[in-house]
This record gives sequence, structure tokens and C-alpha cells, in this order.
Amino acid sequence: MRIGHGYDVHRLVQGRRLILCGVEVPYTLGLDGHSDADVAVHALMDAILGAAALGDIGRHFPDTDPAYSGADSMELLGRVMEMIPSYRVGNADVTILAQRPKLMPFLPQMVRNLAAAMRVAPEQVNVKATTEEGLGFTGSGEGIAAHAVVLLEEIG
Ligand code: MG
Repeated sequence: MRIGHGYDVHRLVQGRRLILCGVEVPYTLGLDGHSDADVAVHALMDAILGAAALGDIGRHFPDTDPAYSGADSMELLGRVMEMIPSYRVGNADVTILAQRPKLMPFLPQMVRNLAAAMRVAPEQVNVKATTEEGLGFTGSGEGIAAHAVVLLEEIG
């Protein structure tokens, strides 16, 4: 078994959609970035790549490459899965740090999206959201951060 951790941050700005784990969450602001800025999926991809000792998403999908402009991060997650043919995901746990909006109603769909992309059962995936009690950049609503940990199991 191999464990990996990922962390990412994106700034909240006007005029962008808020996409988290492939779910469009209704909100007045969205996350800024080269791709769809799905901060939670970025953290998860970095956790998977970390567990497999394959570097990070910046190496595989550079934000200087116009090919990834507006990229669907769920699609990139599928490509990360193709990079690890000798592993299966044991479980994944994602934590989204956001003061607003309330994410609880969207968590079940987020779990289903991630499980489908990683080809595992929803029971192997957890997505949770927390505020940081008004502290720091997530507390002030300037941005959203996400952590992910994943366990990979070698096949065969
Ligand atoms: Mg990112």
C-alpha cells in the first residue's frame, strides 16, 4: 500500500463558476485558475500522483500549456487514473476548507463523481467540508483550499 497527500488553493473571484469535485455549486463567486480551478480535484490528483511517486499535476498538466485552458478537472482525474495502471484506489478522503457557501447539500454528488472517475465504490470515497472559523484566507472568503489523502493498493 502507498499513501499520498495533496493540497491546493484557488482564489475566489467574480465572473467564474464554482466547480468542486465536478459539481457546479451556486454562488456569487467562483474559483480563478487556468483550468476550471476545481481545487478539490486538484488536491486529489496530487495525492494520487504523490502516492505513486509520479510528481504533481503541475508537471503533467502545466498551467502554461494552452491545452489546459478551461480544462475539466474531472477529465484530468481520469487521465491521472490512466497513469497508474498497476494500482487501484483503496480509499480517498478529501477535505474542502471554505467559509462560504455551505457545501453539505452537494457532498453526496461530489462523492459519486469522484468514485466514478476513480472506478471505485462510493463507500471508498469521503468528501467533507469545514470552515476555518473566519480565520485566514478561507475564513475571509478570499479563497478555497482543499486537502486530500489517498491510499493506493498495488494490483496483483
Ligand atoms: Mg490548482
